[in-house]
This record gives sequence, C-alpha cells and structure tokens, in this order.
Amino acid sequence: MAVREDRVEELARRRGFLWQAYEIYGGTAGFYDYGPLGARLKRQLEAEWRLFYSLEGFFEIESPTIAPAAVFRASGHLNCFSDLAVVCSRCDSFFRVDDEIVAGGKCPECGGELAGAGEFNLMFQTRIGVPKGKEGANRGEGYLRPETAQGMFVNFQRLLRFNRGKLPFGVIQLGKAYRNEISPRQSLIRLREFTMAEVEVFVDPDEKDSHPGFDTVRDRRIWLNPAEGEECETSVGDAVRSGIIANEYLGYHIAKVKEFLERIGIPSDRLRFRQHRKDEMAHYARDCWDAEFMSRRYGWMEIVGIADRGDYDLAAHATYSKVDMGVHTHTQTQTHSKMIPHVIEPSYGLDRIIYAIMESAFTEEQVGKETRKVLRLIPELAPVKAAVFPLLNREELKQKAKSVFQSLKQELVYVDYDDSGSIGRRYRRQDEIGTPYCVTIDYQTLEDDTVTIRDRDTMEQHRVRIDDLSAAILAGIRNLHV
Ligand code: AMP
Repeated sequence: MAVREDRVEELARRRGFLWQAYEIYGGTAGFYDYGPLGARLKRQLEAEWRLFYSLEGFFEIESPTIAPAAVFRASGHLNCFSDLAVVCSRCDSFFRVDDEIVAGGKCPECGGELAGAGEFNLMFQTRIGVPKGKEGANRGEGYLRPETAQGMFVNFQRLLRFNRGKLPFGVIQLGKAYRNEISPRQSLIRLREFTMAEVEVFVDPDEKDSHPGFDTVRDRRIWLNPAEGEECETSVGDAVRSGIIANEYLGYHIAKVKEFLERIGIPSDRLRFRQHRKDEMAHYARDCWDAEFMSRRYGWMEIVGIADRGDYDLAAHATYSKVDMGVHTHTQTQTHSKMIPHVIEPSYGLDRIIYAIMESAFTEEQVGKETRKVLRLIPELAPVKAAVFPLLNREELKQKAKSVFQSLKQELVYVDYDDSGSIGRRYRRQDEIGTPYCVTIDYQTLEDDTVTIRDRDTMEQHRVRIDDLSAAILAGIRNLHV
C-alpha cells in the first residue's frame, strides 16, 4: 500500500536525524539508525528525563539487556508476552491481528486472503555461553529483555537496602528493549529494538491512597478516556476522588508524565490518557493508562504506559527464586507482618516520543514566496544550539566568524559554522533542524565587536556584544545537556 511519505520523516532522513538501519542491504524492518542530529536529540531527551525523575528523588540503575530464561519464566513473559498473527495466503506477509490495517480482512500489501497463524512470542531468544553436555539444548537459554523493568524487580532487595529499608522509593532505568514485532511497518512507532525509559515506584499497598506530593498535582487539568464512562477533561484530584483513577499514586504519576511530555514540547491539546479495557491489559497489570499522542499521520498512539503492576512481579520472583521479597511495615508502636510492595510504573518509549516531538515541532509557514520549514524544538533538545555565519563570503568576516564560533563552542559545545550559500539559505538550513539561534558577523562587528542574534521562532534580530553572546544564548536554555 503506497502511503504518502510524511514530511517529518522525509526531513528527518534528509537532514541526518534518522533512517532505516542496514540500508545498503535493503533495510531491515523494525530497526532504525539515529544519525548525528538524531543521536544528539535523543541523548538530550534522555538527559531531560533523567533530570526530571532525579528531582523526584529516584535513583538510576543499569542492568544487562540479556537475561536467563528463569527471569522471564517468573515474570510471565515466556508464557504470556505474545501477539496473535495472521498471514497472507498469497504473499506470505505476517500481520498482527489487532493492527487496524488488517481490519478489512484482506492483505494490506497485495489484497490476498488472510488466515490465522497462531500466537508468536515477541521475545528474541539467544544463548548464553557455549552449549555443553547432554542437556545442551536448553542450557544457557537466554532472552533479550522486552522491557527494562525486570532488572529493577530482580534487584529489589538490594535496592531496598540501598534505601535503608524504607518504602516508598523509586528506581529508574533507561536502555534498549527488544521485541520481535510481527509487522513493524511504521518507522519509529513499531520497532524491534527501541529505547525505554522506565520508572518503578515501590510502595506499601496501604499507602497508595495518599501520595505525599499529591497536593502539587491535584488541580492540574487532564484529558481522560476511561475504560467505562465518558471521555472527560477533569482535574487529577477529581479523577481520583471519583474513582476514575484508582489511587493517588497512580494519579500523581499520570500528572508527572503529562508534565514531562509538555516540558519537552508536546502540546497538551494533543495528549490524552486512555485506560486499558480488562481484555487488553498486559498480564502483569491491575490497571493501565496510556498517554496517547494525536499524530497527524498515525492518529492516536501510545507513547507512555502507566501501569499499576500490583505485587505481581515481586511475588512471582519470590516464588520462582525462593528469595524473600517481603518488607516489614513499621508504625510508631509496632512492627507489622511482612507485605510485598506494589509497583506503579510509568514506562516511556523514547523513539515514539521522538517522533511525537518532531511532528509537534514541525511547522511550515509562508514567508513571501517561500515556504519556511521550522522545527520548533525546545532549546534543550535542539541538536545545534547556535550557528555562526559571516554575512558575506569575505576573508576578514570569515576569520572573525570562526573565532566567535570557536569561543562559543567552548560554552555551548553544539555549535555550527556555515559560510556556504546565501545568508537566507543558511538560516533556512538551521530553521529546518531546529537551531534556536543564528549569529551573524558583519562589518559592524569588525568595528565594535557586536554581532546579531536571530531568534528561530520570531525571526527577530538584535545586536549583542560578543562578550555577552554565550550568556544571551544560555539565557534561553534551561538545562544544557552535552
Ligand atoms: P508497553 O510496555 O508495551 O506498555 O510499552 C511501553 C512503551 O514503550 C510504549 O508506550 C511505547 O512508547 C514503547 N513501545 C512499546 N513497543 C514498542 C515498539 N515496538 N517500538 C517502539 N516503541 C515501543
């Protein structure tokens, strides 16, 4: 099926943000490369996310991406982490049953008849070490993780000790996850290798109804699409009070997800939270809300899942590993019996978020006879913070511009120098990749050491002294991540 190429994806590929991996061998579905600008954007997004949750007081760990089968036997992924597939009898293409494109009953590629093809487990299997001896077949059976979460659950007792035995606490992890998706056909939306940023908040189940920071989010407005009842815009406090959102912990973290997504440039009117119906919930979840982004190309799409995993994972690992995952609860007068903590989990997929950021930031506007393409990224995420140009291609201007460029680079690191083509074209090249500031060196610079700064969004220019240049640019950037 010919789908008109999306302008954002065209720009992303042409300007070095991202493209399909292994292109020279024809490309492999579900794998993408981030190029020089995309990798920077992604690193900075990761840094913003890390900062956001570190300010919550959560600590970060890094666990392996491969785990022995025992971990996923306990977590339920070996048995339950699968999708139903259909196959085309004419061209042999596989599709997920719940893909909208197969709703018509015909193969979206060639129009052939589709037939049921059973369940596929989405985990990539591998082998850890060399198989030896008679039992070789199952020895060393391992899997690439389909989520980072298990790395935090299996380490629960160590993390609890790190937190001096006290609940609640939060742990974060950022890294690759792998899912052998049946039909990954939509660029960054369904990948087989992608980056997750996950938060696991461990809490005493009796305390889920009172989050100590709830007052800070209580009045925030939020657009909800509950499993039962009407879609509504309401406050987080009202949603919890009326039971639409089950408890304050879940409500607090839904509000935090919204805050983070808005901070990185996703407009609130393109965000809603949709609750899973019972029959679509993951095997570990008691309740689950997806933060969904309204994409102009793909419609509503999940970018973050916020699940109440209850005690599912810790209880399962306790059973399978025979390691106690219980915690004593204390009151002022006595120690109660042991309980297994519950887990609230915001799980971000960073690649989909990058798509959402780029789609939200991309604008086209008419300037005179031309269409100006601008990527209105927040400055914290812009891959290039400032570009320095000589106004004209004259040696004395170029020399001065290069020296301004060199000194600015010491402060801002991600700075470009460009002296090719007309000044208008150079501005347009920077607008398209989201550079917030362009600095131009002209003849007046040689006389009084001032330059012009042009703002990407307003296109307004003003003069500043070279000595004040980096401070002027940094004033517009809350956190400089390099
Ligand atoms: P889940 O554990 O399925 O709720 O996934 C958590 C988040 O990971 C989702 O909200 C997506 O943003 C992201 N995600 C899940 N599967 C994929 C995939 N195949 N490709 C890219 N991102 C994904």
